[in-house]
Amino acid sequence: MLSSSVRGRTASVLKQCVRAFTLSSEHEMLQKTCRDFADAVLVKGAPEWDKNHTFPADAVQEMASLGLMSIEVPTEYGGSGLDALAYAVALEEISRGCASAGVIMSVNNSLYSSPVLKYGSEEQYETWLKPFTAGEKLGCFALSEPGNGSDAGAASTTARDEGDHWVLNGTKSWITNGYEADAAVVFATTDKSLKHKGISAFLVPKPTEGLTLGKKEDKLGIRASSTCNLIFEECRIPKENLLGSSGQGFKIAMATLDGGRIGIAAQALGIGQAAFECAIEYAQQRKSMGRPLSSHQMIAEKLADMGTRLESARLLTHKAAVYKDEGRDFTKEAAMAKLAASEAATFIAHQAIQILGGMGFVTDMPAERHYRDARITEIYEGTSEIQRLVIAGKLLKEYAL
Ligand SMILES: Cc1cc2nc3c(=O)[nH]c(=O)nc-3n(C[C@H](O)[C@H](O)[C@H](O)COP(=O)(O)OP(=O)(O)OC[C@H]3O[C@@H](n4cnc5c(N)ncnc54)[C@H](O)[C@@H]3O)c2cc1C
Repeated sequence: MLSSSVRGRTASVLKQCVRAFTLSSEHEMLQKTCRDFADAVLVKGAPEWDKNHTFPADAVQEMASLGLMSIEVPTEYGGSGLDALAYAVALEEISRGCASAGVIMSVNNSLYSSPVLKYGSEEQYETWLKPFTAGEKLGCFALSEPGNGSDAGAASTTARDEGDHWVLNGTKSWITNGYEADAAVVFATTDKSLKHKGISAFLVPKPTEGLTLGKKEDKLGIRASSTCNLIFEECRIPKENLLGSSGQGFKIAMATLDGGRIGIAAQALGIGQAAFECAIEYAQQRKSMGRPLSSHQMIAEKLADMGTRLESARLLTHKAAVYKDEGRDFTKEAAMAKLAASEAATFIAHQAIQILGGMGFVTDMPAERHYRDARITEIYEGTSEIQRLVIAGKLLKEYAL
């Protein structure tokens, strides 16, 4: 007979396993809504948006009206009031339709709204949160700089205290949604001698005097989302635009990226799923040597590996989301999910092109776009090397001798 404390723990572990393996009817409903929307709008629009580098403004508005631009924000602030698992499920489906729409959604949800919700005040919510939940406005997150990406604690953008204002100087690079965003969470140092402890987070409206945009980056993938530098030259923002407390910026950035990594894992799952569907359909239709490709053992083996990597990464992603929802430390789980899902997506997209042969290499089929889109998931919000550093650090603490 198990003791009551063990029984309690077993029940909670079981609940967690059940949630990770099967979705609730609410999550399934959300998944279907997003999948139908993706099939009707995103799958059709994505090739043109990608080709012309067009921001899918109408689709983003529709996503906002479905409540997808603020999934975890409580309903009292105009959000959908759902959990991290819902976010992962929805973002996978949107990214399956269009990886650019996926990153636009993920930045507004996990990189912009999430830190504003967690560290902002009720007063700040009026200006900096509510309009961003309804799709009226779009947010972005400005941490990286030309001289430091992985080493985020080395921020050289400065914020000078001038009584009732902060004055920002420096350049933030690679900012997703940079062109369209109406506001940015910007990380800048108020005291370089304190290193990462001197970094603070600021809410900066766009446009604003002293802030200019760099050129739109011409990218390999996610070409329908904009990426650009934000250049601050004596940019004055009111004192009350500090997010959280002074010196808390690095902590805000790291906590935000933990949640963001669940989002990028979900984006990678969507891209991987799209590439997998393209390959498995083609393998059953195309004949070689008198029979379908799928009946050739070498092709079947590829499909098996693709499906297994996708499903493993999905389980890790859902587990990280459930940990977040349960208020547990999910840093390691989110890093594992992002690492596994991004590497699964690039592997699957690579194999999909192989299965399609020549048809995988041309734009008549979506496989080449999935291949290009998948690559970024191993780079932003922490490269695969950085995820491995985070995971190893956590494991070495857990297993310390
Ligand atoms: C399309 C796109 C969108 C982006 N969107 C945003 C955004 O919205 N906001 C934002 O702030 N940033 C954004 N980024 C920036 C992104 O997060 C960084 O590019 C990423 O963190 C890597 O930084 P880096 O490019 O400076 O590479 P570096 O840090 O210079 O790294 C170069 C290589 O060295 C490796 N490396 C670095 N340090 C170590 C180490 N200690 N151990 C082992 N290997 C190491 C890296 O893994 C990588 O392989 C975006 C980038 C791109 C390309």
